[in-house]
Amino acid sequence: MSGNGQSAGKLALHYIDGQFCEGAEGRRFANLNPFTGDVLNEVAEGTAEDIDRAVRAARRAFDEGPWRTMTVEERLSFVERIADGIAARTEELARLEALDTGLPISQTKKQAARAADNFRFFAEMVRTSLIGEAYPFQNRFLNYTVRRPVGVAGLITPWNAPLMLATWKIAPALACGNTVVLKPAEWSPLTAVKLAEIIDEAGLPPGVFNLVHGFGETAGAALVAHPGVQLISFTGETTTGKTIMQNGAATLKRVSMELGGKSPVLLFADADVERALDATVFGIFSFNGERCTAGSRLLVEKPLYEEVVARLQERLGRIRLGDPLDPRTEVGPLIHPDHRERVLGYIRLAREEGAEVVAGTVPDHLAGGNFVAPTLLLGVRPDMRVWQEEIFGPVLAVMPFADEEEAIRLANGVRYGLAAYVWTNDLARAHRVSQALEAGMVWVNSHNVRDLRIPFGGMKESGIGREGGHYSFEFYTETQVIHVAIGHHPIPTFGKGE
Ligand code: NAD
Repeated sequence: MSGNGQSAGKLALHYIDGQFCEGAEGRRFANLNPFTGDVLNEVAEGTAEDIDRAVRAARRAFDEGPWRTMTVEERLSFVERIADGIAARTEELARLEALDTGLPISQTKKQAARAADNFRFFAEMVRTSLIGEAYPFQNRFLNYTVRRPVGVAGLITPWNAPLMLATWKIAPALACGNTVVLKPAEWSPLTAVKLAEIIDEAGLPPGVFNLVHGFGETAGAALVAHPGVQLISFTGETTTGKTIMQNGAATLKRVSMELGGKSPVLLFADADVERALDATVFGIFSFNGERCTAGSRLLVEKPLYEEVVARLQERLGRIRLGDPLDPRTEVGPLIHPDHRERVLGYIRLAREEGAEVVAGTVPDHLAGGNFVAPTLLLGVRPDMRVWQEEIFGPVLAVMPFADEEEAIRLANGVRYGLAAYVWTNDLARAHRVSQALEAGMVWVNSHNVRDLRIPFGGMKESGIGREGGHYSFEFYTETQVIHVAIGHHPIPTFGKGE
């Protein structure tokens, strides 16, 4: 163990080349508690110099270190040790995540458990994956492929679900034999530090995993531009994704983009309405609405519309807002005062655009936190910005539709294409509508239940590429082909004058 990432003064440190450390310039920034508004701790602010140090360490560990030369089984035993370390600290990680992000602890507990699963799953996936194929050719050649790690992986993560999303990238990157530099979001750095402690305790060789805190425009941009980094896996906003693709193009980075969403829920009149409402309410208001796959646009078939709106309104007032550390809390404070302002700005905009705003209330005793009451937007038109743009908060826009064709047109009429949810008991319609939707992932009569083997990702401006299962294996490995002559074949004799 080479130190503690959060020293007594509660300073969250970088982890570079196997050491917890401050940045070269000693800069720091404050991390706020979303529930109280107080400063939770200070964080070392990474600069381009710190990123350079981390990338060089990762490069050395990749080129010279034992990570690549050890057997796959040895490497995977390290990955599984990380899983064990997380599993042993699930409670602590869940608490830290709730404190840092405002996400209710009942929800961060599941995510902390998933973080351990991610390491176990990707270790097993690499163990059982096809790592090469042979192509014998005309009895004279044996052509075969091998899967190799790509090199240094730059991983850039957002503030929502920070631990889950970081481990969803770190686990396959390491299991496939890459070395890593993680740049977590500046608003939620704490579980990344705890993870660095766990990785340190697992005994990974120095430089294999590095963590640099800091802001996107400085530390993040430096990671994207660094010539020593071969790939960037990014999860965050669509506009940031576009900037990263542009900046990464100069060094031709391989990129994976998991971006924003404005996912529709299509509720047909023949559906099980009770279950659909449960799933819809959970889908938009869990994780404080700060969820990329949140079903933030509810399309309701006309005969059901009035009933659904009335029942949603009734549910709205009963959702329990509160301290994220209270196990009964259903919706906690948003991540940061700036983000709360952005969400409230969209609610104001909805009124200006002519929508009707129906909201629950935030109790007085919660006034110190970044709370936004769960909100419904009614009377919405497809051209409104609140229908088109990702709000990323507890806000659900509701719109009626006349028939299947209109439902599909409205669902697809945005620039995003991450997830969609279809509620119907008509089997043929379920398949027909799902296939007509422009969404990377469609759930039928269910909500966001995940299987780690399935491809996760979006269409249109919701992303490029897929993560999960063998899709992650493809992304974090490089295919090399080797052509071996095993029989005689003529070789042209240029310059011999024959
Ligand atoms: P963001 O784009 O503001 O920031 C994400 C990360 O990128 C942060 O670490 C940030 O510091 C960094 N960054 C910012 N500018 C950068 C730059 N120029 N170069 C390099 N790095 C830079 O996103 P956010 O506000 O943290 O997260 C919310 C967004 O993430 C939402 O749009 C949400 O839908 C999306 N998201 C998508 C998925 C998915 O799987 N599709 C999952 C979770 C969140």
